[in-house]
Amino acid sequence: MNHHTKEQDSQYIMHTYGRYDVALVRGEGVYAYDEDGKRYLDVSSGIGVNSLGYCHPDWVAAVSGQAATLQHMSNYFYSPQASSLAEKLCALSGMAKVCFGNSGAEANECAIKIARKYSFDTYGEGRNEIITLRNSFHGRTVTTLSATGQDVFHNYFFPFTEGFAYVEAGDIDVLKNAVGDKTCAVMLELIQGEGGVNILDQAYVQALFDFCASRDILVIVDEVQTGVGRTGSLFAYQRYGVQPDLVTAAKGLGGGLPIGACLCNQKLSGVMTPSTHGTTFGANPVVCAGANCVLDLVAQPAFLQEVEEKGAYLEALLRALPQVKNVRRMGLMVGIEIDQDAHDIAAKCVANGLLIITAKDVLRMLPPLVITREELAEAVSILKSTLKECQ
Ligand SMILES: *Cc1c(COP(=O)(O)O)cnc(C)c1O
Repeated sequence: MNHHTKEQDSQYIMHTYGRYDVALVRGEGVYAYDEDGKRYLDVSSGIGVNSLGYCHPDWVAAVSGQAATLQHMSNYFYSPQASSLAEKLCALSGMAKVCFGNSGAEANECAIKIARKYSFDTYGEGRNEIITLRNSFHGRTVTTLSATGQDVFHNYFFPFTEGFAYVEAGDIDVLKNAVGDKTCAVMLELIQGEGGVNILDQAYVQALFDFCASRDILVIVDEVQTGVGRTGSLFAYQRYGVQPDLVTAAKGLGGGLPIGACLCNQKLSGVMTPSTHGTTFGANPVVCAGANCVLDLVAQPAFLQEVEEKGAYLEALLRALPQVKNVRRMGLMVGIEIDQDAHDIAAKCVANGLLIITAKDVLRMLPPLVITREELAEAVSILKSTLKECQ
């Protein structure tokens, strides 16, 4: 690769990420290209962000059209792009209202604030604890790090936000025992993404929702990674047949531009009042134009059904590989257990022209939702030869 870029990066960008030796400069469909014109098949979508792949023509038209029309205004004015996006999101999710921000962490911060304010307004001070699951991931701000149920994230940045407790996922009695007078909410990912593509059990999720409803404990579902078609329904909770009090979305929603959305149900729709929350960039019209385009395509039932069917096709191809021990999958959110080091294999795949990521000790695929079966077969073929070459 061009060493100037690498040196510039090393000298001037804080080293919060270990990078592969590749600089990407262009993309089209499911393919990205580096400075030398080498082509990479991307089954990571920039961590589940490029839901329509690179530079989908409808998305480019929506975004560039809006950029050339009105690129930003403050939240003191109405925005037709934002209000139509909010209406669509509510209609498709069964939720009542939306608050827009710029990232997953911010959407989760908003959900945490709403849960605590609802409890404060309804029960007074002190009932503010939020239970989250071990192995979860909810973001990198000081509060969402606190919410994240992994000790490795609770370092250096003390003091962390108080009021979080953690329970092991999967055992409803453990959750019930952890709930006390101070509990106001439970926050969870239905499929833990960063935690290793761990799919929560249907009966556990149903029992958790029933129990929380009986105590007026709010359920916050973090769909930052699972949302916007990734699992073959618009939101993963729809596959579980439950209806949360609060839902957060981000990654795939903007199709490549930064957006976060916190959705609440009717019960919570009056909790946030003027000046209780805000963000300068939230509900940006260019970003909302991109998100409107994503939803118009992804929310179609036939499209969502294809996501699940393509996921099943991919799973079958993966299971046929001798080095694959197990596949954890819903829709096109895929964790691949292999008998080799996942990080090592991911790095070798990148060198071989396949952009794939890991989550804990599994390989993880979050391909663009528009990927074709042929392209999925190509991805598996690169993975197959890489696994063989590394044995
Ligand atoms: C990525 C992620 C976040 C954080 O989103 P950012 O946009 O990086 O702040 C939160 N929750 C889940 C489940 C995620 O996958």
